[in-house]
Amino acid sequence: MNYIDMHCDTLAKAWLGGEKTAKRLQGTMVDVERLRKSGAKAQFFAMFLPQKREDGWFLPEQEGGRFSMEQLGQAIEGMYRVYCDTMEACKDSIAPACCYADFQKNWSEGKISAFLTIENGHPVSGKIENIERFYGMGVRLITLTWNDANCLGYPHSADQKEMERGLTKFGREAVAYMETRGILVDVSHLSDGGFYEVADIVKGPFVASHSNCRALTPATRNLTDEMIRVLAEHGGVAGLNFAPGFLNGSEGDKVSRIERMCDHVGHLIRVGGAECAAIGTDFDGIEGQFEISDCTGMELLFHALRRRGLSGDMLEGLAWRNAARVIKEAAK
Ligand SMILES: [Zn+2]
Repeated sequence: MNYIDMHCDTLAKAWLGGEKTAKRLQGTMVDVERLRKSGAKAQFFAMFLPQKREDGWFLPEQEGGRFSMEQLGQAIEGMYRVYCDTMEACKDSIAPACCYADFQKNWSEGKISAFLTIENGHPVSGKIENIERFYGMGVRLITLTWNDANCLGYPHSADQKEMERGLTKFGREAVAYMETRGILVDVSHLSDGGFYEVADIVKGPFVASHSNCRALTPATRNLTDEMIRVLAEHGGVAGLNFAPGFLNGSEGDKVSRIERMCDHVGHLIRVGGAECAAIGTDFDGIEGQFEISDCTGMELLFHALRRRGLSGDMLEGLAWRNAARVIKEAAK
């Protein structure tokens, strides 16, 4: 079955691994050759930019602590180079896409679409002109925060006070600008306060590219039922994340199970309706033991959902049609 995956961290993994392209990669969950085999219609490729050193994620020659803007600039440059070189090296299979027309054209030519995104708006650095620069590179989705506060707003947090903090003044301006410019606003990783401010500012659809349901898994990265309803009212989508920590009931459970994915999809559809469900695997950004260990296993999920009684129409909506609708409405 064809699908659209709204989030992966493969560019970061490839770049950190010293790869020139993401054509055929060892030790990753996504590469172009496997995307082709797996029936992908589009893959969103994030340029992931942690502000602080975290286990498993570091920039070369970085000793720890916070990354400077210069280092983040180098990271963007490095990941962007991998992206561009991949598009060139695999141009018969995949092509960049900035809008729905690109997506359709690529598909009609038998090609997967590659949407470029930024995970963490920190490098926007308080300037609209930087958003414009990223737009010029082809970025059509920005995940406003990662797990630290930045110029746009505050991240999800277990601290209730932190969780209520929303966008900065500049963040509100930037979000409005992104909508008019045609860059998808992504609330995954954002605080609950930030979520509701985005919902107030953005008139059309916005997305939670890789977040699950908090009612099933009480992770602060997941969406409450009320948030799912608001997202759905906007015509937005939430992408199913395969990380064990966002799927399971207990924190210590490190297995990413297909049955649990089906539970989250079922809950999302019950609360927000069939049109708000999408996929955002988070491949290459997650750790654990995986029943779907790379993109070639996507069919296992679709098969399990069919067995659970999800109609063909709903399944196609989840797999790609809902994400395609949001691209059509919001990416320009
Ligand atoms: Zn993420």
